[in-house]
Amino acid sequence: MQIVRTRDELRDVLNGARAGGRRVAFVPTMGYLHEGHLRLVDRARQLGDIVVLSIFVNPLQFGPSEDLASYPRDFDRDARLAHARGVDFLFAPAVEEMYPNGRPLVTVTAPTLSDRLCGKYRPGHFEGVLTVVNKLFNIVRPDFAVFGRKDFQQVVLVRRMVEDLDMQVIIDALPTVREPDGLAMSSRNTYLSPDERQRALSIYRAITAGARVFRDGETSAAAILDAVRAVFAAEPDIVVQYIELVNPRTLDPVTTAGPEDVLAVAAFVGRTRLIDNMTLGDAGA
Ligand code: AMP
Repeated sequence: MQIVRTRDELRDVLNGARAGGRRVAFVPTMGYLHEGHLRLVDRARQLGDIVVLSIFVNPLQFGPSEDLASYPRDFDRDARLAHARGVDFLFAPAVEEMYPNGRPLVTVTAPTLSDRLCGKYRPGHFEGVLTVVNKLFNIVRPDFAVFGRKDFQQVVLVRRMVEDLDMQVIIDALPTVREPDGLAMSSRNTYLSPDERQRALSIYRAITAGARVFRDGETSAAAILDAVRAVFAAEPDIVVQYIELVNPRTLDPVTTAGPEDVLAVAAFVGRTRLIDNMTLGDAGA
């Protein structure tokens, strides 16, 4: 595995590696790798001949009161894990390398879709995400890019960017990888105290409760959302930011639920903001 710090070097090495029509599969991350990230790497290895993993904590997608400074980082550990999992090129640029002009003047926005769900509470977040993903795609020029459905709204927006801007990349999205008890793996789980870690499980319990009600025949969104809220009602130390049942393409709230619709939650456990979601038809996934 080769560690690459600059855009020019990455373009150079990839131009060589691409010779003979070899295809590039790309996994963008913010590092502090866990099994969820590494499954994306496994998938990238299936899809492409060359696997590029990026680690970049993108300042553009953090709000002023968010956790940019404290976001967990452990480059040496990440590099070991990436190497062991078969990454060919680990791209880990500095902030000044990605944003030599400071805050970019030209950005990618997706009004309406990016104002929903998390976007409502994290203004500018998805503009930051789409802009950095676009830049990374331009640098890596991947044939495939692999994302996790854990960040459901992100996948919807990236797919839409690729469609609307005619980008030549195939997007793949993988199911959420969970801890054995159901908690969605997240780099931010490291912020949780042992007590908070236990409480955090309510998020998974809540969305599975909603999905179960649907599986048992209930299609009223109000009734499904009530089942989700009931789980949180028993856990007063969790502050729910939103609970929504939405159409997976438009992100519009639905009133009558179908198997494709997605139950999405954001909640604070102590000071840690966690998100999770479940497609109703995948109850238990
Ligand atoms: P992050 O480093 O949190 O920005 O995540 C990088 C990529 O890994 C994104 O596509 C995420 O959706 C994906 N990812 C993060 N956590 C998980 C998980 N538990 N299961 C599957 N994919 C994940």
